[in-house]
Amino acid sequence: MRIILIGAPGAGKGTQAESIKNKYPLAHISTGDILRANVKAGTELGKNAKNYMDAGKLVPDEIIVAMMEGRLQEADCKDGFLLDGFPRTNPQAEALDKLLDKLGIALDAVVELDVDDEIVIKRLTTRRVCRSCGEIYNTLMKPSKVDGICDKCGGEVVQRDDDKETVIRRRLAVFHEQTAPLIEYYRNKGVLMTVDATCGKDAVLKLLENRKAGN
Ligand code: AMP
Repeated sequence: MRIILIGAPGAGKGTQAESIKNKYPLAHISTGDILRANVKAGTELGKNAKNYMDAGKLVPDEIIVAMMEGRLQEADCKDGFLLDGFPRTNPQAEALDKLLDKLGIALDAVVELDVDDEIVIKRLTTRRVCRSCGEIYNTLMKPSKVDGICDKCGGEVVQRDDDKETVIRRRLAVFHEQTAPLIEYYRNKGVLMTVDATCGKDAVLKLLENRKAGN
């Protein structure tokens, strides 16, 4: 299965990906996670990406495309992949098309996670993450037992720089300007499906299962 998840920041792409991954053998590729790992490790890629990320802007297409061309040809993608956060612009979508053509691969589905901006702002301003193990918390729905300390590993629980409200509003604006046009792009290709992002963590999995069953 080869799937793309498109949705505003905070729409729950990562959560839906987890539930799909439990059912299908596929590589979950989150460009945001790859970039954050590179920032943490202090690589050249991370140094180039950090300022864009902290400002809520997109990392330039050529950096992302080069990174993904390599990633999609790794062995774990043979059985399928789920792209979370890529493509995010028209040039990225066109580069992906070219690469898939070259590899002789077709997409099974592009799933749009539809969500209201105000829900995103509430979800992301209350999101916290463990600096050490990456465990996600939420100050309203899932606080850590001790404020600022990870239940799992004892690491420091913090707010991501790009989860501050001004940055979130910028990320949403970037999404509407640069990424939302891809919804039309994939609709025209006949592969688009839309899911209400407030319908639970298994919403996309259920849709894929229904489609497989021919419903
Ligand atoms: P995410 O966790 O997917 O919201 O990504 C966090 C940040 O990483 C974004 O705000 C961008 O700065 C950067 N990023 C992730 N994926 C891409 C992409 N496909 N194109 C450009 N920038 C990206």
